Amino acid sequence: MSAVAYTSKGFCPICCADTIFSAENHWYRDFLLCTRCRSIPRERALALVLNERFPDWRALKIHESSPEPRGISGKLARECGGYVATQFYPDMAPGLLRNGYRNENLEKQTFADASFDLVITLDVMEHVNEPAACMREVWRTLRRTGAYLFTAPTYKDMIASERAARFNSDGVIEHFREPEYHGNPINPRGALVTFRYGYDLPELIRSWANFDTRVYRFHDERHGIIGEFTEVYLCQRSED
Ligand SMILES: [Zn+2]
Repeated sequence: MSAVAYTSKGFCPICCADTIFSAENHWYRDFLLCTRCRSIPRERALALVLNERFPDWRALKIHESSPEPRGISGKLARECGGYVATQFYPDMAPGLLRNGYRNENLEKQTFADASFDLVITLDVMEHVNEPAACMREVWRTLRRTGAYLFTAPTYKDMIASERAARFNSDGVIEHFREPEYHGNPINPRGALVTFRYGYDLPELIRSWANFDTRVYRFHDERHGIIGEFTEVYLCQRSED
């Protein structure tokens, strides 16, 4: 029998039922699972903010970039008729469909202005090459009262965000520290971390696009949201 690092009863905001949260090791961020739906803490954290702040989300127009086919993304796909999921396939023309996903580069999207009420990303912003361009595009594609809801690892010992790597236009990747890769739903080699975000991220966001930002941070055992990197960012688009 494998050792269990943590187990606790609680309520899962994704499968909406009493459940057991259980982790095989202490890296709760990726291993503290709901034993019913296998969701992980950041998915449950984003689901809580979504339910609290946008209780009518099933009736909204929502764009999610680079989802995993699970957790809150799977629920959005099943329950929200206006949900559009995109992945970035550099070998393919933008706007076309592959495996049910529309091909979109978050930095240069083909969606019309004001297409969405909500844009969502889970652990995507730390892998993009130009977060400023992404933010401006998210802002452009949101309606006047729309919002961008996202998670990204935020280092509690860092004030200033740091670039970790850069994709140069000649195809060369410039590394500023030891390369770090995270799981990638469409590439088994993983996704390179390009940014390590610190506590200045909301100010950076404002310098990139006209968003007012709230940061939610959790220590919530009832909903299985404990451990490192529990931040959820809610960026409210300003009227103009
Ligand atoms: Zn669950």
